[in-house]
Amino acid sequence: MSNDLLRFEDEYLARYYSKKPINVVRGYMQYVWDSNNNKYLDMHTGFGVAFLGHRNPRIINAIKDQLDRIITVPLTFYNEARAEFIREFMRIVPSSFGKVFLQNSGTEAVEVALKIARKISKKAEFLAFLNSFHGRTMGSLSVTGNEKYRKAFEPMPYKVRFAPFNAVDQVDKLVTEDLAAVIVEPIQGEGGVNPAKPEFLRALRQVTRERNVLLIFDEVQTGFGRTGRVWAFENYGVEPDIFTAGKSIAGGLPIGVAVVRREFGDVFEPGEHGSTFAGNPLVMAAAKAGVEVLINDNVPERVRAVGDRFMRVLEDELNGSKTVLRVKGMGLMLGVELRKRADPYIDRLIGMGLLTSVAGGTTVRLLPPYCITDEDLDMAVRALKNALSDSS
Ligand SMILES: *Cc1c(COP(=O)(O)O)cnc(C)c1O
Repeated sequence: MSNDLLRFEDEYLARYYSKKPINVVRGYMQYVWDSNNNKYLDMHTGFGVAFLGHRNPRIINAIKDQLDRIITVPLTFYNEARAEFIREFMRIVPSSFGKVFLQNSGTEAVEVALKIARKISKKAEFLAFLNSFHGRTMGSLSVTGNEKYRKAFEPMPYKVRFAPFNAVDQVDKLVTEDLAAVIVEPIQGEGGVNPAKPEFLRALRQVTRERNVLLIFDEVQTGFGRTGRVWAFENYGVEPDIFTAGKSIAGGLPIGVAVVRREFGDVFEPGEHGSTFAGNPLVMAAAKAGVEVLINDNVPERVRAVGDRFMRVLEDELNGSKTVLRVKGMGLMLGVELRKRADPYIDRLIGMGLLTSVAGGTTVRLLPPYCITDEDLDMAVRALKNALSDSS
């Protein structure tokens, strides 16, 4: 950017994202504005973080109230904001789950899930899937099935076997008794918005149970209402032993959680795990308000209605296009898979006032907030139709 201030980002901020040339200064619910006061409909939402809207008023009020009390309290002391979050969160977790681990990001939630699996199973190896994404720290990266993210950092610390996603007929062969756990996203997000087949998750559940292998669902992107149920696994009627969540829970503040089945109890002894910022009252107050929004606004129900309409209109309007291979996804986690790289189209959409992200190289990923209106959807579909209309 030529701007005198923003050039500091180019000069001194280590580069590991390719950047779009807009300076985002403000957001409210499903919209953001740049420094030229251009308004955008946000279906990027920071990789899904702003699912409850930017600066959702209920979450902002909760954060402001908490700022006047205290921001940091370690997990070595009690705190009411934390206890309130836990109380509310357990209302949206199936009763077979009994303990929550608090972290500060999705990758940390995955890290603790892997540690839990190793501690419970006393085994070392994992099975994960091609095209999966579980985070950037070394443990999460070990189970991420994409060369692009891993290559520069090999060898990985964990021993992991990768299997084709959705290959139902290979589950019996690949899930062996020597595994600590199988980790899978119910819908692959970064890998291209690929929903698991119901029979795939059912087979994984059946075989892991038979062979005493733990099953981890990574719901960091799919969780918290995004797919039309609070948890994506509820669409499938398949429960894991451990699941992770993150991204949207605290309305934009950093958070990650892992949840384990009741029978596993506390898992760790004091000292075996910890995190300085985890469970801090500011994030907890935001996350408690996040759960309240989810419940009071009937977010999953709304997502099913809006998401079904969005999917239908996208299919009607785009499936004739030469550029489009298919429309896929679930709820408000949708992808338009193209016959070529998605990046140039994503740039073109920015110029049309629509923010999206790329997934799996060729998919335009749409992760809108739950509060988008029919008018927003129509605008988005018009923009997509225009952007994808010529085959340049
Ligand atoms: C985003 C994501 C992560 C990593 O979350 P961070 O907060 O970026 O560490 C892990 N798993 C899945 C499925 C994700 O989508």
